[in-house]
Amino acid sequence: MSDFLTQYPRVDLAHLPTPLEPLRRLTEYLRGPELFIKRDDCTGLATGGNKTRKLEFLLGDALAEGCESVVTVGGLQSNHARQTAAAAARLGLGCELLLQEITGAPEGAYEYSANLLLNDLCGATVRRYPADADMAAELDAFIERLVAKGRKPYRIPLGGSSALGALGYVLAIEEILTQSIEQNMPITHIVVATGSGGTQAGLLAGLAAAGSPIQVIGINVSTSREKQTERVAAVLDDTCKLLGLPGVAADRIHCEDAYFEPGYGVPNEGMVQALRLLAQTEGLLLDPVYTGKAMAGLIDLVHQGRFEADDQVLFLHTGGSAGLFAYPRSL
Ligand SMILES: *Cc1c(COP(=O)(O)O)cnc(C)c1O
Repeated sequence: MSDFLTQYPRVDLAHLPTPLEPLRRLTEYLRGPELFIKRDDCTGLATGGNKTRKLEFLLGDALAEGCESVVTVGGLQSNHARQTAAAAARLGLGCELLLQEITGAPEGAYEYSANLLLNDLCGATVRRYPADADMAAELDAFIERLVAKGRKPYRIPLGGSSALGALGYVLAIEEILTQSIEQNMPITHIVVATGSGGTQAGLLAGLAAAGSPIQVIGINVSTSREKQTERVAAVLDDTCKLLGLPGVAADRIHCEDAYFEPGYGVPNEGMVQALRLLAQTEGLLLDPVYTGKAMAGLIDLVHQGRFEADDQVLFLHTGGSAGLFAYPRSL
């Protein structure tokens, strides 16, 4: 697969391979299956995260097309926007971020600190839109205005979740499978936070390409099981087409929706407990929007007996800890 993927231009942005490590104290504490963590919070770009692997392909395409700037969308505290800002800076491209004013936490810091501070340090231009704006339509309209002025912007969809972006996680599967052989850890499950869906789609496409039976369990951060499954399926279909793979069976898409309430980016008790537990058992920092809720999901699934005692479960740490500083009071 990696040979096949060399036909897509890719820029080198991430520190790879990211470490794959045992979670010894957490495993002992939960008395469940053996738990491991894949440290994609350590991809290295302005505090790291999963969007960096996607941006390697997206910005490879942007450079190949001769674009001079990138434009993308996200919530006010988007990690995707922050990694895009840093990647654009590194490549000498302009960066415009269209951010939606969703209220994750009713505190001042949410309005100016954390990812917003880092966007500003990286020199990106931020435009704010109301919570009810149709961001895909705003993105298209914004790009059209730039093109009409003779500019060459590159459009990156929400979360970088196109088929091209998902290739980052097709490659990540090769990395994970290699590490699991080298370290003699036969992984049975991967648990990951799922939002715009490109990460889960890329993982599933990569596993299909490798003929691996590893199960991926997505923990939803924003919507119902039905809607999230559709979202992942759409990106997965496009990714399979790009790779010339037959489609992936619908029953390979698992999305759990019991852990994100009351809503996207809004704290809940399980998230706060999981965040504190990982910090206090493993010295690991999760985030309030994605990985904290995903870890709360993993812990609950262990308690529910979802795994066998001899399963080996890999938590994909997709980053986001910069977002902690948007929530100092809520945490
Ligand atoms: C964007 C993001 C996710 C979700 O990835 P998708 O590809 O959008 O589903 C998970 N964790 C963090 C920290 C993120 O920033």
